[in-house]
Amino acid sequence: RIDVIVVGAGHGGAQAAVALRQAGFAGSILMIGDEPELPYERPPLSKDYLAGDRPFERLLIRPARFWEERGIALRLGARVVHVDPAGHSVTLDDGTMLGYRHLIWATGGAPRRLTCAGHDLAGVHTLRTRADVDRLVAELPATRTVAVIGGGYIGLEAAACLTKLGKSVVLLEALPRVLARVAGEPLSRFYEAEHRAHGVDLRLDAQVACIEGEARVTGVRLADGTLIPADMVLVGIGIVPAVAPLLAAGAAGGNGVRVDAQCRTSLPDIFAIGDCALHANRFADGAEIRLESVQNANDQAGVAAKTIAGVAAHYDAVPWFWSNQYDLKLQTVGLSTGHDEAVLRGDPATRSFSVIYLKDGAVIALDCVNAVRDYVQGRKLVEAAAMPDPAALGDRAIELKSLVA
Ligand code: FAD
Repeated sequence: RIDVIVVGAGHGGAQAAVALRQAGFAGSILMIGDEPELPYERPPLSKDYLAGDRPFERLLIRPARFWEERGIALRLGARVVHVDPAGHSVTLDDGTMLGYRHLIWATGGAPRRLTCAGHDLAGVHTLRTRADVDRLVAELPATRTVAVIGGGYIGLEAAACLTKLGKSVVLLEALPRVLARVAGEPLSRFYEAEHRAHGVDLRLDAQVACIEGEARVTGVRLADGTLIPADMVLVGIGIVPAVAPLLAAGAAGGNGVRVDAQCRTSLPDIFAIGDCALHANRFADGAEIRLESVQNANDQAGVAAKTIAGVAAHYDAVPWFWSNQYDLKLQTVGLSTGHDEAVLRGDPATRSFSVIYLKDGAVIALDCVNAVRDYVQGRKLVEAAAMPDPAALGDRAIELKSLVA
């Protein structure tokens, strides 16, 4: 039997294997992934890879020889369909059964799909894998108008790239503002204005009724009857964690698999990390959440790997994230959900500013647009749960680092 099987060869899975070796783990490691590629970075898929500015080879997390040299075996294009926790084995989609000592579940999630009429027409895309992007890009020469459904980070980044590629883009957001679930209103309004200034036809409160077309999409019909003509639709409405085999095996969870501070699931010797791991997060007041970020995948990978290698570790990392749209680099730290005050630092009109979120007087998060200094210094405010005078936070003449104490 294999000492550690890692299911999922994405950000979390790859980092778990790397971290096991870094922690001195000498046992056998097998990483199983259902995509055909070596582990690669996902964030560029909606950024420079989609825009055609970065070839796939430069997305690889490590070159092929890295895995060979570290004795990390890879089984790609294979899907785990069944887990037997009592027998300590997994079954692949080709029927192969493999025994493990420890299992790390790092499967991320599948894009949430629309369920309305027309959701499966040709020309309707999602964006999670390299294959998704390649399929979409192959259709671009015959595409003039793209309807992007969903004003979250992926929808907005894709809208920026497609605009840059000369496509006419209509962005449909069901809520009254973009990024509503992850950012405060000043940030949403800023990005809405930016997208409109770049020519995106941005529609808020836009409820999709169905996708129209015969064999191929021709448009999106909104609930109010409006028809948005489009040759392509990109659906970016979140993910569904890929945890069905684990839940079927009896793991606690629902919207993800529940893990403790060492990333252990409720099943013996089975860990879960990354987008699919439901964990109590200190920066969310201890609430159970899933975080969909490279930071979370990597940090949880480190915790699971150390725990397996017998090194004490627990997950307590500060959440951080980034998003590139046009020439705007957004960096976020902390989690703004539940804030009761938002302080604007700098003038959005200058295209360099930050929004600082407080709860009960303590800094819980920052969204920094073209403001690296605020991001770096603000991180310490979040870590320390500092309680500075909000007026000082909003004053760019005062350095954030001076407000930590
Ligand atoms: P993944 O990286 O998705 O890896 C999971 C892997 O497991 C996949 O290859 C999947 O196909 C495979 N798998 C699933 N089920 C099985 C199974 N049963 N058997 C075998 N294999 C299986 N985060 C940021 O921090 N910053 C960004 O700017 C950013 N941009 C993003 C842009 C896009 C387009 C996307 C899709 C994501 C972005 N993210 C970003 C999120 C980030 O990529 C994820 O949080 C991260 O990849 C999570 O890592 P993971 O290991 O949990 O899942």
